[in-house]
Amino acid sequence: MSMLFPEVQVAPPGPRAREIIALDRQYASPSYIKEYPLVVDRGEGPWVYDVDGNRFLDFMAGIAVASTGHAHPHVVSAIKSAAERFLHICGTDFYYDSFAQICARLASYLPAMGPKKVFLTNSGTEAVEGALKLARHHTRRQYVVAFKGGFHGRTYGAISLNSSKVAQRAFFGPLLPGILHIPYANPYRSEGGGDEASHPARLLEKEYFVNHVDPREVAAIFVEPILGEGGYVVPPVGFLEELRRICDEHGILLVFDEVQSGIGRTGKMFAAEHFGVMPDILLSAKGIASGMPLGAIVAKESVMSWPRGSHGSTYGGNPVCCAAALATLDVVEGLLDQVRETGDYLQAGLRALKARHPVIGDVRGVGLMVGAEFVKPGTLEPASAYVGELEQLAFQKGVLLLSCGKSTIRFAPPLVVGKHEVDVLLGVLEACLVELDARHWAAGKV
Ligand code: PLP
Repeated sequence: MSMLFPEVQVAPPGPRAREIIALDRQYASPSYIKEYPLVVDRGEGPWVYDVDGNRFLDFMAGIAVASTGHAHPHVVSAIKSAAERFLHICGTDFYYDSFAQICARLASYLPAMGPKKVFLTNSGTEAVEGALKLARHHTRRQYVVAFKGGFHGRTYGAISLNSSKVAQRAFFGPLLPGILHIPYANPYRSEGGGDEASHPARLLEKEYFVNHVDPREVAAIFVEPILGEGGYVVPPVGFLEELRRICDEHGILLVFDEVQSGIGRTGKMFAAEHFGVMPDILLSAKGIASGMPLGAIVAKESVMSWPRGSHGSTYGGNPVCCAAALATLDVVEGLLDQVRETGDYLQAGLRALKARHPVIGDVRGVGLMVGAEFVKPGTLEPASAYVGELEQLAFQKGVLLLSCGKSTIRFAPPLVVGKHEVDVLLGVLEACLVELDARHWAAGKV
């Protein structure tokens, strides 16, 4: 493919985009966020075209989902041929090849977990929900540990585990009881591990298990091996190991929510591989089928002990989604080296930007799961307004970005991007920072 660049000839939203946005605003739920007025017509690889003919470089992949890029021919052809054969029969009640194949394929990753069983869902939050049920069912225990800053989805179990944005929980209560939230280990902010006493593992053992709940009643610890919505935080070495040790000591299940960090995003199929710590239950979704709705609960065979009829789903593991997932995994398995290389190149470029723009407080990540945290220069105070404006300005200049946490830009592009796309991104980013630095420091605000 020839080298492409962003091309914004009609300031978005253009006339066609405005019509669609007006219709959407009239009828679609007001709960939708709609970060900026991008109205998509089509996509190709890491490029997205809007309905007014503008071309954007996608560095957010529809929230880390379009793993193989937009409209990857191998994935599209698998979807077409599956759709031509049958759209639905219900994998909970009957059999088909792609369902069995995707379960087998997912069970083949993380061999150190040992033999596994797989349950297929339609989304990440359903995988979380199912895992909560499985953990309670298997252990016959009721309490669950989750992390501050964590995000696991929008259904009741998931929002009960969440602790990243209060709007996701406000006025929806009562939520699921029995969830204990402890701090995530954040090296940049010296939280949860900055000193030994505040280490999450110590808090659990010395405080929670002494004052709040008997560990024999704890079913599971749900953790994102790399924090996603909470700010793309990579925990320090030892964090996950300690959780594994505590789980082993007390018969608690360790659940890795790899909905965002899995499927090659970090340059390995799952982030767990970077840390060398294996969970008892692994959750996947997002990038797994390039955007077709599929999620998975992958559990140790000994843990997925629930009997026939105890859990099911009408659509989960739909044949078109299974075909898309098998094709996606073919593509992603071949991209892992490139993901690591491009990710390192991206981080080096962002660090160079950080040296020139002190509003970037921290650059971190693994593979193409990279975050840049923006702070009021010389402090740890989040530069939230700056980040909001940066998203909008980058969009106007033809780059699609998405924030997370309080003031972090996440770089989660389709895994097919290479150095050229990173160079384009860095060029646009620098142009935005120059403009925003002038706007903010001149006005004396952040
Ligand atoms: N878990 C994590 C770590 C996520 O990042 C998300 C979505 O952002 C979810 C679960 C929920 O997935 P879904 O939106 O597919 O329900």
